[in-house]
Amino acid sequence: MANVADTKLYDILGVPPGATDNELKKAYRKLAKEYHPDKNPNAGDKFKEISFAYEVLSNPEKRELYDRYGEQGLREGSSGSSGMDDIFSHIFGGGLFSFMGSQNRSRNGRRRGEDMMHPLKVSLEDLYNGKTTKLQLSKNVLCSSCNGQGGKSGAVQKCSACRGRGVRIMIRQLAPGMVQQMQSVCSDCNGEGEVINEKDRCKKCEGKKVIKEVKILEVHVDKGMKHGQRITFTGEADQAPGVEPGDIVLLLQEKENEVFQRDGNDLHMTHKIGLVEALCGFQFTFKHLDGRQIVVKYPPGKVIEPGCVRVVRGEGMPQYRNPFEKGDLYIKFDVQFPENNWISPDKLSELEDLLPARPEVPTIIGDTEEVDLQEFDTTRGSAGGQRREAYNDSSDEESTHHGPGVQCAHQ
Ligand SMILES: [Zn+2]
Ligand SMILES: [Zn+2]
Repeated sequence: MANVADTKLYDILGVPPGATDNELKKAYRKLAKEYHPDKNPNAGDKFKEISFAYEVLSNPEKRELYDRYGEQGLREGSSGSSGMDDIFSHIFGGGLFSFMGSQNRSRNGRRRGEDMMHPLKVSLEDLYNGKTTKLQLSKNVLCSSCNGQGGKSGAVQKCSACRGRGVRIMIRQLAPGMVQQMQSVCSDCNGEGEVINEKDRCKKCEGKKVIKEVKILEVHVDKGMKHGQRITFTGEADQAPGVEPGDIVLLLQEKENEVFQRDGNDLHMTHKIGLVEALCGFQFTFKHLDGRQIVVKYPPGKVIEPGCVRVVRGEGMPQYRNPFEKGDLYIKFDVQFPENNWISPDKLSELEDLLPARPEVPTIIGDTEEVDLQEFDTTRGSAGGQRREAYNDSSDEESTHHGPGVQCAHQ
């Protein structure tokens, strides 16, 4: 079994790495038919990939190079035939396979440096109001004194031990007919592929070609941005010679808010009211994320059931890039019931006269048994705990208080 460094081209044709020439040809014909631009005008890229993969794999010399050294082998073996770079970056770098990571290549075929990802914690207020903040970071930039050469021109020599590759490839025989390829960083040049004579080294960067520089980035957090959203500074990551710098990517991390929970462009909050407010109307004030005092009124005569939700339209989060449009604010009401024996028995019967009449108790014929309804510790025992969760979670009394007739959505 050949030890194959890279299977991407085989994957494109949908064949295993050990495929015979015949199998390759078959697979290619089938795919080429399917994706031919005449038939499938939107699949132009796919067709190019298929053709390229077949071109390489049907050529014994190229296939051998590819099997042994993967993409790198092809690149070096092809010694810059024109047009090759385009398809290379198409298949191996740039758009399609850029998730392959470290072998990033930019559009022009230059090696591309790693992106630098930083989390950026922001409050919900920041995301509501927008914010400009400065971020200080230290990064590598090309040494200006030697233009990233590491020394005087001519001082830099190709490393002879690795022939400038920076790595040495060793073939180890595991068993007869079975070899393993190992790449190791060249110890003569520390993987640089070049060596510089000590006396010719640039004084400023000591031959490192890059120096650390403190950079201040101005970060604009726009109204309505979300947790997990990225702010990208293109090409601002570490510089290195011959490498197109990657991006600095800030990943927004929304901090928890004490009052509001966010759900897309909507906000959710919980408000506690008493029984009298639930039955007789109320007014309350809260401070919004932009500092406004918002007055919420609910007229007498309208009833709030425990745990129910009401909405204030247009008081949610601003929409990203369209901040005058806002989501909604959902307020969940936690109705606080009075304590046991909060009122004298006389008053209680007066109250009963005022409240909606209780349903008539049906007369039961035959034997009956009367039982006690008791309070219990809801934190003990799993059944009790679950019951508690299913109801309004902030009620301290047993859930039987909510009784039947509570017709509102629990979330
Ligand atoms: Zn220098
Ligand atoms: Zn070397």
